[in-house]
Amino acid sequence: MKTNADILFFDKDCPLDAVVSLAEPRDVPGLNGAFLSILKEHIPNRAVKVYEILNNYCSPVGKQSVMSLKLIFRTQENNLAVKLDINETDVQECINSKEPVTGTSSTSGQTRSIFPIPGLNSPLGLLVIEGKVDESVKNFLDPLLRIYSSHAFILNRNETDSLTGLFNRHVMQNKLNQIYACQANGKRKNDGQVQSWCIALMDIDYFKKINDQFGHLFGDEVLIMFSRLMQNSFREDDMIFRYGGEEFLVALKNIDLDKAAITLERFRKQIESTSFNQVGNITVSIGFTAMNTSKPLSILVEQADRALYYCKYQGRNQISCYEQLLEKGLVDESNISDSNIELFPSQHKKIS
Ligand code: GH3
Ligand code: MG
Ligand code: MG
Repeated sequence: MKTNADILFFDKDCPLDAVVSLAEPRDVPGLNGAFLSILKEHIPNRAVKVYEILNNYCSPVGKQSVMSLKLIFRTQENNLAVKLDINETDVQECINSKEPVTGTSSTSGQTRSIFPIPGLNSPLGLLVIEGKVDESVKNFLDPLLRIYSSHAFILNRNETDSLTGLFNRHVMQNKLNQIYACQANGKRKNDGQVQSWCIALMDIDYFKKINDQFGHLFGDEVLIMFSRLMQNSFREDDMIFRYGGEEFLVALKNIDLDKAAITLERFRKQIESTSFNQVGNITVSIGFTAMNTSKPLSILVEQADRALYYCKYQGRNQISCYEQLLEKGLVDESNISDSNIELFPSQHKKIS
């Protein structure tokens, strides 16, 4: 029988340098970057896409299981449209059999080779290659997908919240600091304009009542469904974090306050009109602010929090923009303090 060592180090189809470069990265973006480089180098003339399967988090109540696939990266920008274009039945066959499947594009009818990215019980994701592939590509990918998967699992466990699968608060601190630094340094979009982010804090209304009335498991189920709706509603470049309990922070990329208001109001309405299984309808309150880098990050999060609590004070199930509240004299800037100092200590030190 072939051992792992045989496969990794002696299989002619899978070079050692590829294995080493997958083992080195210390975070998920680094790992994805390394895998992308390997795929570009070793499968140069084909478009390859890697997806994460988002329903892999077990629903505690087990009633709802909606699968969605999130594009993680692709090797060619123009080929294989961003939207998944493989047949649903091929996707299901690959997930159920945990084996590579030759399928077809749902739009063009062209062949697609679909590989499962192994997970503990079911695949963590899928790798899709344009066209049919031969045995050498399969032999090349098999060990790499297993290494990629185990390394991603370990890194993800450190970065994500185990209930919802969203980034945890620790990662939020690092990512927001990075975004803030980029914006402060004037990082530009493709059209040459400086990037502008908004920060939104969301809190599910009367969540304690849901736990009290239906029990904790149903409360958990709502948190999972809510997280999935967030992932499906916001753009891929936006970043979603579980801030704590039933509170979430979304960093909205390249958006001004007017557009953020439209996006967040659309999401609020979507939540209001969604039925959360046995729990029925719930609502959410959302406070938001612009990432204005003349202020420390800790203050910006506090501003979003102020706007959120204004929503609660006004009866919940609404959105509020901090800057507008300030303009109307409905919040007072002078008594905003660095209460998030612990969350963003480096920013605080830098500014003061
Ligand atoms: P408000 O509209 O003012 O936000 O009221 P609320 O009831 O949503 O807020 P409150 O802070 O009083 O209650 C939040 C509840 O969320 C209390 C806590 O037990 C519950 N909670 C926190 N984390 C979890 C979790 O992971 N799962 C479940 N089921 N409940 C949680
Ligand atoms: Mg709360
Ligand atoms: Mg709440």
